[in-house]
Amino acid sequence: MPRTLHIIGAGLAGLAAAIAAGKRGQCVIVHEATNFVGGRCRSFHDAALGMVIDNGNHLLLSGNHAALAFLRDIGAAQKLPLPAAAAFDFIDLASRARWTLRLSEGRVPWWIFDAAARVPGTRALDYLKLGRLVFPPAGKPVGEVVACSGPLYARLVEPLLLAALNIAPPLGSAKLAAAVIRETLLLGGAACKPLVARDGLSATLIEPALAHLAQQGAQVRLGHQLHALRFADDKVAALDFGADSIALGADDAVILGVPPYAATALVPELAAPTEFRAIVNAHFRIDPPVGQPAILGVLNATTEWIFAFPGRLSVTISAGDRLIDTPRESLARTIWDEVRAATGLSAALPPWQIVRERRATFAATPAQDARRPGPVTRWRNLALAGDWTDTGLPATIEGAIRSGNRAADVVGRMG
Ligand SMILES: Cc1cc2nc3c(=O)[nH]c(=O)nc-3n(C[C@H](O)[C@H](O)[C@H](O)COP(=O)(O)OP(=O)(O)OC[C@H]3O[C@@H](n4cnc5c(N)ncnc54)[C@H](O)[C@@H]3O)c2cc1C
Repeated sequence: MPRTLHIIGAGLAGLAAAIAAGKRGQCVIVHEATNFVGGRCRSFHDAALGMVIDNGNHLLLSGNHAALAFLRDIGAAQKLPLPAAAAFDFIDLASRARWTLRLSEGRVPWWIFDAAARVPGTRALDYLKLGRLVFPPAGKPVGEVVACSGPLYARLVEPLLLAALNIAPPLGSAKLAAAVIRETLLLGGAACKPLVARDGLSATLIEPALAHLAQQGAQVRLGHQLHALRFADDKVAALDFGADSIALGADDAVILGVPPYAATALVPELAAPTEFRAIVNAHFRIDPPVGQPAILGVLNATTEWIFAFPGRLSVTISAGDRLIDTPRESLARTIWDEVRAATGLSAALPPWQIVRERRATFAATPAQDARRPGPVTRWRNLALAGDWTDTGLPATIEGAIRSGNRAADVVGRMG
């Protein structure tokens, strides 16, 4: 087992690796380039709103077992309470139809035989056609495996896969879509209960992880960007941080938990995804109306999901690249008009903020998925972590945490 494990990057992958390695009693030092922890999953105080918001609304599902185990490890499971049922409210802004999708708890999908529980306008038989997406042919996009049309697609498959893959579903990897479906819908409602960090991502996931790492004796160095890895023979010999550098001992190891564009700049000849998709979030400082569901799916609109938080409504738009150059105020007004229509609120535009994460996730196409490396590198003391490594899942919290756990396993086995 290595003497000191250096983890580069304090996103969820790096934090999960640190906690898993700490459990094994390893001495851990985390080096983070920025002055905050959490990477793409974090909260910050927003001056325009005068409140703490998340960089983007994040949804976990009860089937995300690695994420839930991570929460238990850091003593934060109670911060993400499990709803009683897997129920999802939707509104179609074109027809103004509203419905609630209610998945039955167990693996037998009784809900598809119940017109009041399934997607309106669909028949039980429609769901069976989705079977092709459970074990799809290799290397195919979703659009070549199932028909991307009809009420079941528009009202369930498209919103689910767009949110999970962050790409227009017909272009998305059928393999990644299948992994999502196998780990959620196919397991029934017990694996599909929505979990939202009501108190914010940092309060729920990041601060408890930092407190736990401190208890484990791990160090977290902020503002400590790795500039280069220095290699000698088949190992990393030193970490070059510009102003300082750390020579590695014979038993020391490194987990690189940085995004793919940073990893390829640090590791020669590393294949990694090169294309990305944006996620756009709009936050409005306003009390949600009484009875507003925690998450509301919105169809036939720019808005895709409305999340209700204390004193705030926040909208998520996946694969939002088309909106990157839209003037901020006009985008806020368009989205606010839709939020009013969906919630029944009548207020004029409240204080707002738009957060656009341009490289929110790698583009989940079959070609980009094929570029994802595993955790093992040709250097004997270097492992990779990150939602973009080959986890078999799209870029998600669950994938990031699994990748961190896996990298810690790899390092734990290094001789
Ligand atoms: C707006 C948005 C919404 C999302 N919604 C969801 C959702 O609903 N559900 C879900 O499961 N997932 C969601 N995701 C995806 C999820 O946030 C990511 O999959 C996860 O946070 C990735 O974690 P990571 O550790 O792999 O990478 P990152 O969070 O990118 O962490 C990498 C870290 O490395 C640091 N770093 C980079 N270069 C260096 C260097 N040279 N030296 C030191 N440190 C360095 C970075 O600063 C960063 O802190 C969303 C993402 C975004 C952006």
